[in-house]
Amino acid sequence: MKNKELGNDIPKYKKKTKSNCSKSKSKSDHKHQNKDCLLIVENRPYLGSYCTVCGKIRGWNYCLEKCEGGYRELPKEEVYSKYKDLEQIAIKDLFVKYVPLKAD
Ligand SMILES: [Zn+2]
Repeated sequence: MKNKELGNDIPKYKKKTKSNCSKSKSKSDHKHQNKDCLLIVENRPYLGSYCTVCGKIRGWNYCLEKCEGGYRELPKEEVYSKYKDLEQIAIKDLFVKYVPLKAD
């Protein structure tokens, strides 16, 4: 079963791809398994996705909704109820490159 995609009203992820990032050790040799999640920064949710293998954040976006004349940012209560199926991961700020992975 495929995870459901992020809402289709949402503009593309911010391009922040650095393909030639420094070789990281052991986990460099895998195919990133990206999973949608909510990134919580200072109590504010953002739509994001991260790799479940290494925790690398692939991208994030504001939780937007179409409205007259453009987009509006959803209040966080709406975000939490709309995306309640997504895992919520608190991070320090949006410059963080990796989420903390749960040890299992
Ligand atoms: Zn990865």
